[in-house]
Amino acid sequence: MRHLITTDDFGIEEIEQLYKDAEDFLKAPPPKLLQNRLIITLFFENSTRTRSSFEIAAKRLGADVVHLDVAKSSTKKGETLYDTAANLNAMGPDAIIVRHAQSGTPYQISRHVDCAIFNAGDGAHAHPSQALLDLFTIRQHFGGDIEGKRIAIVGDIKNSRVANSNIRLLRRFGLKITLVAPPHFLPKTDLPTTIKLDDILDDVDIIMSLRTQTERHAHPIYGSLKDYASDYCITKERIGDRKILLLHPGPVHRNIDIDDAMLADPRCKVLEQVKNGVVVRMAALKKLILAND
Ligand code: ASP
Repeated sequence: MRHLITTDDFGIEEIEQLYKDAEDFLKAPPPKLLQNRLIITLFFENSTRTRSSFEIAAKRLGADVVHLDVAKSSTKKGETLYDTAANLNAMGPDAIIVRHAQSGTPYQISRHVDCAIFNAGDGAHAHPSQALLDLFTIRQHFGGDIEGKRIAIVGDIKNSRVANSNIRLLRRFGLKITLVAPPHFLPKTDLPTTIKLDDILDDVDIIMSLRTQTERHAHPIYGSLKDYASDYCITKERIGDRKILLLHPGPVHRNIDIDDAMLADPRCKVLEQVKNGVVVRMAALKKLILAND
């Protein structure tokens, strides 16, 4: 039984094939490859993009989608997560898409079910479908020529599952990563790091801006988001006319992570990421559900 818990679950050739499928899905209406398949979405944490993106991806391929309303489910009545998962599994789904605030939950659930588990974000650990769609967007922008491209990941890297997944994935594809953040947002790492965003702007092809993960801070770490923004906000003034591809996984804190002008700038591909997210998730659903037959 195969799952998507981290990006390491897919080999490089598998990812190349995944991207071929995603490109095909962008070009033409997809065949109903997952007709009569059942996919359950189980989100214990808020989501705007990821849940709707997975649900749209599943429906585009013809699958039936059921969302478990966690607020009304039996986990609120004291049922363990694993019993909830085992009960859902007994209904015969082909996949369960799980988001949880606790790192490791999707992996634990995968040991109690016999369908594909997709990790839709677990704590600060991993968000593999986000990293896969980010890399897809980078490849699309550079026409596939990504080896050696230089990317700055900017923001609350330590608490970001998006950063974690991207660091692992982008390294495997030969991108050169610099982490840019105040000291308390930097993880322990062997990658180059700096606290000064302005120092690296002439040396990068891509910036991935991240949200401050305030929900994962035990107490407020930064003096104020305004102070943070003055050092790390990606502003048009700061970027000037440099040819930099700007990404952000969303939700964007407007004028804290990225300013209004840069959000409206053609170099910012945030909505392209959202669009690509659907086809990359379609390709991932197709891959695992058909592979598990
Ligand atoms: N949407 C992404 C996540 O769920 C990024 C974020 O929330 O900052 O991790």
